[in-house]
Amino acid sequence: MRKALSRVLIIGAGAAGRVVAKKCLKNPEIFTDIHVASRTFKRCEQLKEECNHKITIHELDADHVKDTVELIQKIQPKLVINMALPYQDLPIMDACLETHTHYMDTANYEPKNEAKFCYQWQWDYHDRFKDQGIMALLGSGFDPGVTNTFIKYASQELFDTIEHVDIIDCNDGDHGHPFATNFNPEINIREITQNGKYAENGKWKEIPAMSISKIINFPEVGPKKAYLLYHEELESLIKHFPSIKKIRFWMTFSDNYIQHLQVLQNIGMTSIQPVNFKGHQIVPLEFLKEVLPNPAEISTNYTGKTSIGCIITGLINGERKTKLIYNVCHHQDCHEEVQAQAVSYTTGVPAMIGAKMILNNQWKGHGVFNLEEFDARPFMKELNEQGLPWKVIDLDGPLDN
Ligand code: NDP
Repeated sequence: MRKALSRVLIIGAGAAGRVVAKKCLKNPEIFTDIHVASRTFKRCEQLKEECNHKITIHELDADHVKDTVELIQKIQPKLVINMALPYQDLPIMDACLETHTHYMDTANYEPKNEAKFCYQWQWDYHDRFKDQGIMALLGSGFDPGVTNTFIKYASQELFDTIEHVDIIDCNDGDHGHPFATNFNPEINIREITQNGKYAENGKWKEIPAMSISKIINFPEVGPKKAYLLYHEELESLIKHFPSIKKIRFWMTFSDNYIQHLQVLQNIGMTSIQPVNFKGHQIVPLEFLKEVLPNPAEISTNYTGKTSIGCIITGLINGERKTKLIYNVCHHQDCHEEVQAQAVSYTTGVPAMIGAKMILNNQWKGHGVFNLEEFDARPFMKELNEQGLPWKVIDLDGPLDN
């Protein structure tokens, strides 16, 4: 098969991967040939049916580099879009290196046996990608992804210098389940049960998980309690914008969510240490994932909206100003368009846009890159056109300490 300019291989037919496939189909001038490979073939078949049989599907366990290499060699895509889990980032990057194929994902690498995420593992691939003349675009979801682009856009169009950033993420939706996560439960619970972290004056400050919270006035939603978490874009933004003196990430969780999570933690169900169960080693969190609602299947009666943005304080002509760039996304609109809830949608749409930037050469380079290393303007234009419109408003000042 010849390497067609518009052929992509999406790995992962889960909640967000399904949105990517469907949004790629809506942009046929760029994505003329869409392949989806995932571990459970049934999920690929379901997706193919939902896509009116306009995609080609494959069964693949991307933990095995050799299998991924063979599939890439067979399909010859220009780009691999990794929508599987963070555990697969490095094996898929290895397969892309071996086949000289561009790579993209939405979440940074995390080893399975340790709840720790960090860009360094993937940044360490920079020289190898450069030597092969290919690119890897890391973290092209909403946060990370759009949030990185918001900061880049602010540096290009709004501020002379950026000093403070607070990334604020609110899901003000109701899915009707007693407890459900909006993306992969295992990854979600690993993320929020680890220590929080933020950067201030060149130093990282670590806090116990969920120990700092604050009421934040979310645009088009109103005041909500949000918790300070560590999130991966803090690491790349602080690297690429050295003028930033303080950067934090805040996310809302309902009291009901926190209560369920506390009980699950207290009884050991969020642990990633294997336990012996009837002669088998099982990981409690992996088991928990199997009994929780699938984030790809909770959109039908989901009401409400997400409101995610960046509060940015910096200098404009010597004066200190604060602005908020944000997007609001309605769960029901996403369900009507692509049968997904807003968290999958806000992840999948920027993934499709990132792929588009690479395929139409608006973003190019050899090596491993985060989104803020490229011109934000074409990406921001696409957000408005592809279902994630954004606004900029002036605020009186930054969030309090
Ligand atoms: P899901 O669990 O719904 O989907 C993951 C899919 O990947 C599943 O179909 C799963 O297959 C497949 N998969 C898992 N392991 C393998 C493997 N070894 N080989 C092939 N396929 C595999 O997760 P989400 O769609 O919610 O999340 C996908 C990614 O998006 C995650 O990395 C997540 O962290 C990221 N994300 C990023 C966000 C952002 O804003 N940047 C926000 C939300 C999510 P199976 O069906 O067999 O389980």
